[in-house]
Order: sequence, then C-alpha cells, then structure tokens
Amino acid sequence: MIARVIVDVATNNTDRLFDYIVPDTLMHIVLPGMRVVVPFGPRKVQGFVIEVNKNSSVDESKLKPIADLIDIEPPLTSELLQLAQWLKEKTLSFHINVLQVMLPAAMKAKYNKLVMLHQDADMNDLTPYIKKVFSSKEQTYNWNDLIKKSGPREHKELLNGVKSRLLYIKPVVSSKETKKLRTVVKPNMTITELHSICESLPNNAKKQKELVQYFINHFETVTVVDLIEKVPTSRSTISTLVEKEILIKEEVEMRRDPFKGREYKRTSALPLTEQQTVALSPIINTLENNKHETFLLRGVTGSGKTEVYLQAIDKALKLGKEAIMLVPEISLTPQMVTHFKQRFGSEVAVLHSALSKGEKYDEWRRIRDKKVKVAVGARSAIFAPFENLGIIIIDEEHETSYKQEEAPRYHARDVAIKRGEHYSCPVILGSATPSLESYARAKKSVYHLLTMTTRVNNVQMPSVNIIDMREELRSGNRSMFSEPLIEAMINRIEKQEQIVLFLNRRGYSTFILCRDCGYVAECPHCDISLTYHRTNQTLQCHYCGHVETPPNVCPSCEGDSIRFFGSGTQKVEEELNKVLSGVRVIRMDVDTTRRKGSHEELLNKFGRGEADVLLGTQMIAKGLDFPNITLVGVLAADSMLHIPDFRSAERTFQLLTQVSGRAGRHQKKGEVLIQSYTPDHYSIQDVKQHDFVSFFEKEMKIRKQAGHPPYYYLILIHVSDTDLGNTVSVAEKISKFIKSSVSPDTYVYGPVTSAIPRIKDRYRYQCMIKYKVEPNITVVLQEVLKTYQSEMNKSDLSIMIDTNPYMMM
Ligand code: ADP
Ligand code: ZN
Repeated sequence: MIARVIVDVATNNTDRLFDYIVPDTLMHIVLPGMRVVVPFGPRKVQGFVIEVNKNSSVDESKLKPIADLIDIEPPLTSELLQLAQWLKEKTLSFHINVLQVMLPAAMKAKYNKLVMLHQDADMNDLTPYIKKVFSSKEQTYNWNDLIKKSGPREHKELLNGVKSRLLYIKPVVSSKETKKLRTVVKPNMTITELHSICESLPNNAKKQKELVQYFINHFETVTVVDLIEKVPTSRSTISTLVEKEILIKEEVEMRRDPFKGREYKRTSALPLTEQQTVALSPIINTLENNKHETFLLRGVTGSGKTEVYLQAIDKALKLGKEAIMLVPEISLTPQMVTHFKQRFGSEVAVLHSALSKGEKYDEWRRIRDKKVKVAVGARSAIFAPFENLGIIIIDEEHETSYKQEEAPRYHARDVAIKRGEHYSCPVILGSATPSLESYARAKKSVYHLLTMTTRVNNVQMPSVNIIDMREELRSGNRSMFSEPLIEAMINRIEKQEQIVLFLNRRGYSTFILCRDCGYVAECPHCDISLTYHRTNQTLQCHYCGHVETPPNVCPSCEGDSIRFFGSGTQKVEEELNKVLSGVRVIRMDVDTTRRKGSHEELLNKFGRGEADVLLGTQMIAKGLDFPNITLVGVLAADSMLHIPDFRSAERTFQLLTQVSGRAGRHQKKGEVLIQSYTPDHYSIQDVKQHDFVSFFEKEMKIRKQAGHPPYYYLILIHVSDTDLGNTVSVAEKISKFIKSSVSPDTYVYGPVTSAIPRIKDRYRYQCMIKYKVEPNITVVLQEVLKTYQSEMNKSDLSIMIDTNPYMMM
C-alpha cells in the first residue's frame, strides 16, 4: 500500500504528491486527510495523506515508509481535500498552505494524545491486548508512551481499536497553548490597615502613597497592566509595595472564554414581517428541494436580517442538516453570539478570536465529532468540517475581512459557494450595502436577489444631513467641528441622549486636498487619486504609474490651502474637550482596545450611559444597537474617498451607511450629520437618501468607463527583493512575459513602484493584469512562479500573486 503525501515544505519544487510505503502496522489505518510524519531528505517532516493507493507509479523499492501517524482519525474530510485541490489552483497557493488554513491553529502546535476506552464501548468486545491494558473506562494513557511499550502486533491492535471505536483518542493541546497567565495584585490587608499605612508613609514616597490610595478607593484584584494604566504607576512602585507585603502578587489564569458560564434564555422564532416572509420563502424552498442557489439579501440597517438567518438555519436543522454562519470578526460580539446561543442552545460552536488556540481547537473538535450543528465564526469558519451542510450564510458580505490577505489569498464567499454547490444547499449573502460585484451578479440573476427596504416595527430611517466644510472654513470656522454639529451635540447632551462621533482613520496623510475648494489631485488617466510619496515628494498613480510633483497652489481655485490630510482620534478628543467642556467621552480606537475584553467593557460603559459621546474609528461603525443614540456625527467623510483604490467610493458609501445605521434604531428618532469637503460626491449624497440602488448605478457607470471590476477581473503581482535592480528587472520580465502570453484584449500594467516602495529594506514593485476572459491565466501565472522558483529559493526575491486583490498597495 502506498500513501500519497503533501509534505510541509512550502516551495514550488515540493508542491506535489510524494509516495510513501504504508508499513504493516499502519495497514488500513492510514486514511486520506490524516497527518503523518515522513522522512524527507535528511530530515523528518509533517505531511497530509491525500490518497491511499494499492501501487505506486514509481519504483517501490526506492520508496521510504511513513514514520509515524499524527492523527488517528483524519481531521480533513474528503470534501475538504477536494476543496483544497480547487482552492490551491484558484489562489495559486501551495497545496500545503491551503490544507493548513483549513485546520485550527492549535493543530500546528505540538499536542499530546490521551487514549481511553470509548464511552459507548462494550467491555465484552475488547480485544485481548486492550483488555489487558484498560481495566476501566476511567483509565487513560499517553498514546505515544503506550505505543512505545507495545510491540508491532499490539500497536496494530490499538490502532484497530481506535478505528472500531473501542478506543477514544483525546488530543490535549499543551498547557502553554491553552493557559493564559496574567500577573495580578491585590491588597494584603484591610482598608483600615491601608489607611494607616498611607498615613505612615513619608511624604517623599508620593508614588507609593498614590498606589495605596488607589486600593483604598478600589479594594480589588487588578492586573498589573491595568493598574499601571489606571493610577498611573510603575512596575517598580508595585514591586516595592509587594516587598513590603502591602500588596500580594499572583499569577492567575485569565478568563478566556467570554461566553463561558453565561446563561442563555431560549428564544423562539418571531412572527415574521411581510418583507421577512417574502425573503425567507425562496430560501426555504431551496432547502426543501435540496438545491444549490446563492441568494443576495439586501436589507436596510434594522430590517431584521438576523431573524431571517435564524429561521433559515432552523429549517436546515429540522431537515437534519448543518449550518455555517459567517460574520466579520469585529461584529462577532457577545450580542451577536447570544442571538445564536439563545435560538440553538448547545448546537452552536463559536469560533471566536477571543478564545485561546486550545479553546478554538475544542470548538472545532465539537464540529468534527458531530456534537454541534451550527458553526458561527469569522472568515476561517468557512472551513468548518461539517459533512452534511444544509446552509451557509455570510452576514455583511461586502466586508473586506472575508478576503485573507496572506497565503492562501482566498475569499470566503468563493469558498462558501463552492461548498454550497457540493452539498446542493443555499448560500445567503446578506448586507445593507452589498459589494458591487455581488449586486451586479444578482442583477444578472447569477444570484437570487431578495430585498428588504423598511426597518422592523416601522422605525424610521434616520435623517441625514451633509455639512459643507468648505462653507464652514469660509465663514471662519477652522476647527474640525462644524457649527451645526456642535449645536446638535449640545442639544443631545442637554436631553441626556447619546452621540456617536465617527472618524475615518484610513487614508490619512496619503492624499492631498485643498481645504478651500475640496480639490484632490487625481490621475489624468485613471479617475483615482494620486498618492503622496514622502520619500521623493511626488504624487503617483498606483494603477498606471503616472508621476507628478505636488502643487504648491491649488490648480483648481489657485488658493494656498493645499494640505496633506491628517488627524487622529486622540486629537479629536482634545478638541472636543475644548469646544464642549465637561463632555464625557469614551474613545475607541486601536490604542484603547488593545487589551482583550476592553472593547466590550467600553461598550458596556457607554450602554450604561456613563458617557455622552462614543468617539471612534471603523470599529464603532457596525453592530452597535443602543436605544439612546440619537445623533451620529461623521467628522471627515472624505478621508476614505481619496485613497488610491478604485473601491474608495464604494467603501465610503458602505461605511457612511453603516455608521448612519447606528442612529435612532428604536423609538427615538435619529439624526446623522456628515461633514465633508466634497459634499456633492454621489457616494455621500446617496447616503442621505439611503439609496443603495442609485449609488450602485452611478458607480457601475464609472467602473465601466474606467474598466474596473466588476467589468474586469484583476490580478496583482508584487515583486520584491533587497536588490533594487533585480526587483525592477524581474518585474519587467514578468510583465513582458504575461503580455506575450495573454490575449490582446487583456491589459497588463506596470511595473510601477508599490505605494510603500520599500519595506524592511526590500524594494517593492507591482504589475496589474486586467482581463475579461482569459482561460489560461492560471497556467501563465504558474509558469511565472516556476520560472523564478530557483532564484526565489536562493536569493531574497519574492513574487506574490493575488488573483482577487482588495488591497491595492
Ligand atoms: P439588521 O441586521 O437587518 O440591521 P436586526 O436583525 O438587527 O437588523 O433587526 C433589527 C431589530 O428588529 C432587532 O432589535 C430585532 O430583534 C428586531 N426584529 C427583527 N425581526 C423582527 C420581527 N419579525 N418582529 C419583531 N422584531 C423583530
Ligand atoms: Zn493612473
């Protein structure tokens, strides 16, 4: 018997099946989808068994045997193995990378295997050796130790025992992976004693006094990290008090599962609204008829998409099938998870980034062992190893986080549809602002379009007003807050209502803008704003390579207010305190939410009404559902509009719509104020009317004229090397080769320098391919990779191909 194996060595030369002999002990035990250890050259490496065959096509006397099994039961199903084959080609990835991305991260780490009698095993069925070793169901052994003690015949008997389910193997991820320890401190005495310590400390021990005072005010156990932030104090001051035995320091295991121990009250299906009923019915129909179809559910914010998802999943479960529910990581909030746990109870596994690797592995295991029927998670949950899938749902389908930006560069939507075809089951893409690609497909009836245009319970959409910041500037207001926004904020604070202030952090400092007239430098050939390159002080187009020097005066109004755009949340907070003294602000950005759980804490605080304003970036745009938010202010709606990416208008519209959706979701009417230097831009105007379709039509015209997706497919090739000359020459050769290999209707642009021309001393160049029909493109690109493989192995050269780019830099 021969096992054909993909080894864990990610290079082009090794990206193929290698044959190994299956030794007698492992005969009929080794199955496709299992991981094994095999000799590879002078060393031993891990690998995945893809096939098991009777014979090899090569000389079997030269083959080596498999050295060891890593899994006793295959973690990958035959469907996932097939999917890997497809995905590897689609994304031009190494087979090994695709196989690995399908498994939880913990499986890359070393773990121990415990072996015990299966819960359901009949003690009378035990084979002789197993009977000798296991006297009861409580007894466990380390698998590897047991194998070492056993001879070949016993080894085989144990493996057969696993196969026939007499024995159960329990993988235990090493404790380093699962346990997260944190250092905490707490008072080592009563409050009264603390008081007297505080008094007895000399006046020059100011730092120590402050710290003791903190524990008088907050008699609690607190992590050192938090303490340093809260007081503020230093590690050395804490150590001093620990040495004096005023405080005690301990290592505690961090609470990892944010949902552990929570009680979930079961909910049942709500009676659907008319629009929900209409949307759900064709989905139910495909479920009942076991048909594959991709649905695009466009429902305005607050239209009740979640309830449609829940009832569709419920139907799939009733038909004895399983479900995958994808949500963007950032909206995988406890609120969201609760909906699913309440409806489906213990049938749900949640693959959440707040879980440790070990816990994620446990959740994954529950799916593989068929203990649950619903998997809720971010992008990688699309590989949940179900074998009887009944439905796949992708919420907020336009989110770019569904695209993985490292190898394998896959899009979860493509994988979902591929799996949906395999299982003949529906795939639902849901969003208030679908991606242009998806909506265009729905209009061409490739996807089945479902629409919900009104909010549940006749809640009104918020009123949206756009404030022309150029006017503000003309009337002498140079601050980042317009008069109407300040007035509106004062008004809400008086009424004790809450405000969300949104600052778009992306795109800052990369483009130039005239603060008088709103002029932004754009490429004359591409309808895309030019990027300012600080290194050589030029403006460049990342699509066609056009270069110009930045103007000193505005070419449009001849004023001298040309600026590089730049501002951060911290600065906004300072300014806000100046214009509204005493305002209570919660700032949410990467800095204040770095610590795990802080995201949720800050939101809870805001929910309890402990602040007037929630100020933040992208992370507050989605999923917030607080009844007291009646005002949403967007500080600079334009900042994303001018990043050099043809999707910038689309992203602007999506984001503004999402943020606007936070206002007035319940009884109180919501108002949205959008500050803009280009208030007439359609991506901003259409937010005002909540008009997705109008936006879609305008944007499609522009994409058509410029030849951007969805009218064309794009492929981006990045070339980088520590040697500039080689980077350029390889990029040029690649570009030339592709031009000579594709049809005349296909465009090949570049090479041009990347937006960041050098990272970590590597020079970066890029080429772009734009095509409509190019059946051989995969072969051409594989050829490119093959040509440079040996050079990539030997030097610093790297070539990266993205067959569906979302990041153009
Ligand atoms: P979306 O995801 O489309 O923005 P949600 O799913 O958050 O909207 O629903 C908005 C609100 O309406 C939620 O508070 C939800 O509980 C409620 N809701 C949804 N469907 C119904 C229904 N059929 N009857 C009553 N309330 C509903
Ligand atoms: Zn250009």
